[in-house]
Amino acid sequence: MSPNDETLKKNLDRLADQCAARGVHLTNLRRLLMGLLLTAEKPVKAYELIERSALQGRRLTPATVYRVLDFLIEHGLVHKVNAINAFVACSDYEGALEHHPLILVCPACQKTTEINDPDLSIMVFGKLNSLGYSLKSGSIEIHGHCGLCAEKSPPEST
Ligand SMILES: [Zn+2]
Ligand SMILES: [Zn+2]
Repeated sequence: MSPNDETLKKNLDRLADQCAARGVHLTNLRRLLMGLLLTAEKPVKAYELIERSALQGRRLTPATVYRVLDFLIEHGLVHKVNAINAFVACSDYEGALEHHPLILVCPACQKTTEINDPDLSIMVFGKLNSLGYSLKSGSIEIHGHCGLCAEKSPPEST
């Protein structure tokens, strides 16, 4: 899908409406980075966002990119995947503005899958809290090979 795709434009418009309803303004810059993340097949690193913005005629400094990403993360539109130091568009923005997804990360191909299951989150967060832990990031990452990668490299028998 090209970043100028009609579908993307529609998705971004819908997102902008949802944001506006929540008092969040999707500026052109936020929209640009959101579009890049929505069209990416897997999480994108900050420097890749700079490169891809440049292809669209926008020269951004790392500081600007991080500032916009912080904003998008704060508003639940984007999640940071700490394991691979990359960023991914929320796959469920119509859910709660503040949500704590479980993010499955494949270490081989870096594909991620976002799971929003309130019961599961409450269970995990409840357990963490009862042990005196508070979560540093807004999401919980679980590492495991995705179906495709698991097929390619079956676990070694011991
Ligand atoms: Zn999300
Ligand atoms: Zn994989």
